[in-house]
Amino acid sequence: MKKLALHWQILIGMVLGILFGVVLLQLEWGQEQVLLKTIPASSSIEHQMIDGVLTPVEIVKPAKEVTITHARHFISNWIAPFGSIFVNLLKLIAVPLILASLIKGISDLKDIAKFRNMGIRTVLIYIATTVIAITIGLGLVNIAQPGSGVSKETIEKLSATYEGNENIAGKLATAAKQKDSGPLQALVDMIPDNAVAAMSNNSLMLQVIFFAIFLGISMLLIGEEKALPLKKFFDSLNDVVLKMVDLIMLSAPFAVFALLANVVVSADDPEVLLALLYYALTVVAGLILMIVVYCLIFALYVKKSPFWFLNKIAPAQLLAFSTSSSAATLPVTMERVEEHMGVEKEVSSFVLPVGATINMDGTSLYQAVAAVFVCQALGIDIDFAGQLTIILTALLASIGSAAVPGAGMVMLVIVLESIDFPSELLPVALALIFAVDRPLDMLRTTVNVTGDATVASVVAKSLGKFGEPHVENWDDHLDDVTS
Ligand code: ASP
Repeated sequence: MKKLALHWQILIGMVLGILFGVVLLQLEWGQEQVLLKTIPASSSIEHQMIDGVLTPVEIVKPAKEVTITHARHFISNWIAPFGSIFVNLLKLIAVPLILASLIKGISDLKDIAKFRNMGIRTVLIYIATTVIAITIGLGLVNIAQPGSGVSKETIEKLSATYEGNENIAGKLATAAKQKDSGPLQALVDMIPDNAVAAMSNNSLMLQVIFFAIFLGISMLLIGEEKALPLKKFFDSLNDVVLKMVDLIMLSAPFAVFALLANVVVSADDPEVLLALLYYALTVVAGLILMIVVYCLIFALYVKKSPFWFLNKIAPAQLLAFSTSSSAATLPVTMERVEEHMGVEKEVSSFVLPVGATINMDGTSLYQAVAAVFVCQALGIDIDFAGQLTIILTALLASIGSAAVPGAGMVMLVIVLESIDFPSELLPVALALIFAVDRPLDMLRTTVNVTGDATVASVVAKSLGKFGEPHVENWDDHLDDVTS
């Protein structure tokens, strides 16, 4: 019997995971409340302006019980960990994969000038696609005006729901830290002072890329013969890590089941989600348009069917959707683009890891829509100069966003600050869009990954490095090691 294609297996796992979450929430057992913890009563002194005088006021917070439903409790204790294990496995191989494949890619180069060429092309195309994404986002939010219809009651309800939310406070604090750094800090942060420390932290991907390029170029410069042992080592490491991707992917259909069941039971009250439906639909429309743009670029420039492209890249897109992390998806994106599409390693090993860190078209489109949406909802005018500022800061913000769930919202704070958004309203702004952030994060991450794959194809085509697919299966050599 012909085996079901991987993307269908993953899709079935996702649908079953959603159904499982929904059914569990409907059962009577799912409605039951479980006491998670009791937060004791506390009091603190805060200074408030009363009649123009700063006056100390005692704020008393009564004891609070934190409860969750049985269904959420069950899924987070017994199902969700399998999703986390899968994501951990993918993250585990990200650094060795980038190192091995980038060093192999560079040390195979016959001409260093080609690498410079590729670097410049990659960055310019990444910037171009991001500007297109932001422009689409701004165009749609200005036409649809999703913020104008949000009532005062909804704003008050959302602010009250998320008042003091730890997640929102955390995002504001991270944004404040990022904002305080100097203009060249990003450049300084790219150069590691300790290679091992860089490799031990997944959020330092650009440092690992820098180290790999530096090592690869130096290998070229010592001459082929001397570099050979190291080259063979990284060649072999690269094959091993790609095999690890194949093995991890065997569990993908089960892992997405766990990930999506958890998303369903952690989702917010449907009523809150409905209030933000028009805004969410505006973002979704923009993201769909962006996928159409990629398909057009692919068809016109790479001269292959966009359906072929989507078919090949589908497993990476589905994982991006399920994990909300382009960094965790990176090993799968690399495997699909190289083995299933035929982009040569020299290109994919550089363009994709760089893209996962700096190219986030979906995130920047979302930031443009969200920034204008909150301004519309809170009655704050943004003029043409403000919209241009959004294009620039959303571009920089998407470059600076970490490739992890929810990172786009942190950088949104910086976009809002660039258009002089009143800082006292920032918590309200985040509260307004918080409820739908997770589903939108899943979708924008899918677009981020698709964008990286499109640009890798375009760069490969422009350099004559788009070859033939050469798929490896996890069990190709199984017979050699079993009796
Ligand atoms: N989750 C996104 C990514 O990993 C970033 C974001 O938009 O929050 O690509």
